Amino acid sequence: CGIVGYVGKRNAQDVLLDGLEKLEYRGYDSAGVALALDGGICVVKSKGRLTALREKLAAQQLAQSFCGIGHTRWATHGEPSDVNSHPHSTPRVSIVHNGIIENYGLLKERLAAKGYTFQSETDTEVLVKLIDSCYTGDPLRALQQALAKVRGSYALAVLFFDYPDTIFAVKRESPLIVGWGEGENFIASDIPALLKYTRKYSVLEEGDMAVCTAEGIRFYNEFGEPVERRQLTADWDM
Ligand code: GLU
Repeated sequence: CGIVGYVGKRNAQDVLLDGLEKLEYRGYDSAGVALALDGGICVVKSKGRLTALREKLAAQQLAQSFCGIGHTRWATHGEPSDVNSHPHSTPRVSIVHNGIIENYGLLKERLAAKGYTFQSETDTEVLVKLIDSCYTGDPLRALQQALAKVRGSYALAVLFFDYPDTIFAVKRESPLIVGWGEGENFIASDIPALLKYTRKYSVLEEGDMAVCTAEGIRFYNEFGEPVERRQLTADWDM
């Protein structure tokens, strides 16, 4: 339902929680974050309000992270629960997802035949395992190959554990924008999540992929060709 991504100099945890709070008006039943840390990616998620996630995070006393993704979930597949909350992960990839993967049943059977096991009832867990099954070191290729097999709608923010300073974003039939900062950049499903930090943003077009680091954002169209996306300025107040 709500997606936020941050990479830069600030404490990612704070920016993500702040952005998710600004998207609360859309409604949600659970929330979670994945944070890139030295030595791996830490996922913390919880059913219920953002305060429940805040408390869990505070209790963990994690080292500062400067790159992460966050999600507020509005369940479509699988009840609201800690396990069904996003991010969904494998040891190599972590994703947050808005939308619905229509052919997830078939994909799940195929992945199970390859040895993947499933803890949740979500379509999103199938998607992260599909991406994992296509990954041989090149994130863009993995995303392209996986998404070619998918029917449905998605806005995705993805962390690959091999690329702890980069957020990958993809969009089809579900809105996603990127926000431009100075030495920091953002991803969000909607503008209010960004306004405290920047007013400059670009809108992903159908099938677009964005590669987001602290230094910049690159865009690719649905064919994997590098493209430019116009920078816009939000002139409204929140
Ligand atoms: N279909 C996904 C789920 O049920 C995503 C829901 C959402 O858009 O928040 O977990």
